[in-house]
Amino acid sequence: MKYKIAVIRGDGIGPEIIDQALLVLERIGKIYGHSFNFTEVLAGGCAYDVKGTPLPEETVEICKDSDAVLLGAVGGPKWDTLPGHLRPEKGLLQIRKELGLYANIRPAVLYNPLKDACPLKPEIIDDGFDICVVRELTGGIYFGERGRREGDLGEAAYDTELYSVGEVERITRKAFEIARKRNKLVTNIDKMNVLESSRLWREVVNRVADEYPDVTLNHMLVDNAAMQLIRDPKQFDVVVTTNMFGDILSDEASMLTGSIGMLPSASLAEGKFGLYEPIHGSAPDIAGQDKANPLATILSTAMMLRYSFDLEEEANAIETAVEKVLSAGYRTGDIHSKGAKLVGTREMGMLVVENL
Ligand code: NAD
Repeated sequence: MKYKIAVIRGDGIGPEIIDQALLVLERIGKIYGHSFNFTEVLAGGCAYDVKGTPLPEETVEICKDSDAVLLGAVGGPKWDTLPGHLRPEKGLLQIRKELGLYANIRPAVLYNPLKDACPLKPEIIDDGFDICVVRELTGGIYFGERGRREGDLGEAAYDTELYSVGEVERITRKAFEIARKRNKLVTNIDKMNVLESSRLWREVVNRVADEYPDVTLNHMLVDNAAMQLIRDPKQFDVVVTTNMFGDILSDEASMLTGSIGMLPSASLAEGKFGLYEPIHGSAPDIAGQDKANPLATILSTAMMLRYSFDLEEEANAIETAVEKVLSAGYRTGDIHSKGAKLVGTREMGMLVVENL
């Protein structure tokens, strides 16, 4: 089969980690007889430098015309003083909206060879955990009305959390569909004891759950969820939540796996289209030094094969190759521990390719 992939290298370590992910995809194409056609487009700080905007129109058009998008990371200190609408991160928020990417899927898996990197006690993690956070991505407080006005004690600022029934229905369905392919358990996380938007959210989740009698649903308040993730992460299978709660909880869940450099993500639209990227940022502190861990980006390509192209066997092949490399003791600096073999970005990518 032929697939069109738009590639956004971005800023900082983005170009280096994308290089390795493309080598992995090319090798998969050779082994399984697929052709991946890559089109490079600009977004983020590098797009601002060349085009004066973090998200040029042609980038959006080429992404829309592709089967999937692969993104490295954007941002860095060079662009930190730009006004809000020109900052690289604004380009990311905009592209999610433009491409209708309303569901962010973030697996937090504790790999057996990396158990030592988990900050929790061994008796809590036992034989590891596998959590899938499904975060609403195009609504809620990050997109609601905001502004400044005069408050009782001086200048005041506000942001608005707003969710419509349709937005909650579609993210809930995505979560239940994913749970069906896993352990058939969905935990909904909200703040319905305080927020009206959470009360509507929970009503809708309950209604949609009736369509999935084979999947168990439970509810948890977000403050409790933050504790439970540390107390007993094994209790979770699929977690569904709002944009802001998901932003925070998925970072917490990722920290439990020991390294931000290991975790992929998918942002999905209706149908099969998706944007795939590591959860970490552009790591300007190690950019250009062959130190970045490319595994999160490589694992993002596995998610692309699974969710956008229905290539389950090929996706598994990438994940298995990554596990083999880790089991053989190879580590980049971020996941390195005593006795392990320290490798750079390029060598790590090459090892995965060799193990496919
Ligand atoms: P970051 O994720 O870039 O880095 C946090 C720490 O983790 C750093 O010490 C970094 O060296 C390390 N790290 C991250 N990814 C790594 C990898 N693959 N291998 C090894 N180490 C890795 O977060 P930050 O420092 O808060 O942000 C840096 C820039 O990235 C900022 O401009 C921020 O806005 C941007 N950012 C972009 C995205 C994105 O593109 N999706 C996400 C988050 C942050």
